[in-house]
This record gives sequence, structure tokens and C-alpha cells, in this order.
Amino acid sequence: MVAQAVRATREALLSVLDRVMDPEVPVLSVRELGIVRDVEVDPTGSVTVTVTPTYSGCPAIRVIEQDIVAALEQAGYPGARVRTTYAPAWTTDWIAPEAKAKLKAYGIAPPGRAESGELVQLFRRRATAQCPYCDSYETELRSEFGSTACKSVCWCRACRQPFEEFKAI
Ligand SMILES: [Zn+2]
Repeated sequence: MVAQAVRATREALLSVLDRVMDPEVPVLSVRELGIVRDVEVDPTGSVTVTVTPTYSGCPAIRVIEQDIVAALEQAGYPGARVRTTYAPAWTTDWIAPEAKAKLKAYGIAPPGRAESGELVQLFRRRATAQCPYCDSYETELRSEFGSTACKSVCWCRACRQPFEEFKAI
């Protein structure tokens, strides 16, 4: 019975977090981005949310923490704590497929699969981004850093439009 009550609470908390949007990618929630790793409720009812920043040193993580605490407080769970963990490191593979589709619809090329091969990686060229507007792979990298450090700026030769790509890590 107790376990059931805790599970229900956890689900309620997760649905609150579904409404907390990432400040840098406002079409995606912090859950869709895979930033929220866990939510725990201890027997006294106090809430701890475990987050993993997308990029170490990402300035948005402080804002995200405040947004999470504020959203939970508004939903009736005051005093939530946010715990940051860097292990395992966040990877763009944690972004759900539906979330990648939302990124594309927003005009940001979703990240490709993160490359984990060590030796191979030395010889492999970075995959070309797919244009979110016309789906062409005839694109080129213009700048490693876009409006935020986690995005790079690309240019599409087919439709002649610049776009941002979420870097795969
Ligand atoms: Zn294009």
C-alpha cells in the first residue's frame, strides 16, 4: 500500500516536470531532453530531483534548477531539492525520438547518434547535418557555436538557409 502511494506521487511529480521547458530549447521539456534522471520522495514527503546537465558548464542548468523547484512548489510540493549528477554523462541519445521530431519542427537539426567508437572516431569525419527545412544533406558547418554552446550553425546549400544543429555528444 505504501509503495503504491509513493509511486502515484512520483508520477504526479513527473507530470509536473513534463511542463518544465528547457530555457534554451523551449519546445522540449527537461524530461524530453533527458536532463531529469530521477525523482525521489522520501517517507517524510520531501522531494529530490536528480538532474544531469546536457553539457558540463552549461549556464542553463541553474535556470533549469530554479524552474524545477518553482514548478513543483506551484503544484503543491514546496521545498524540493535538486541534485546534480555528472555520471553517467548526458548524451544526446537520451533525447527521445518524438523529442527529436519536435526539434526539427522547431527548425533545429536534431543530433545524430553520438559516436562512441574510439579508434574509428579519429579517422571518421563528422556526419553532415540534415537540413531541418528541406531534408537535404548538402549542408556545411559554419560555426561550432550557435546561439548556445550546445548548438552549431550550419548552412544548407540546397535551400540556401542557415540553421542550427544540436550537437551530438
Ligand atoms: Zn535546406
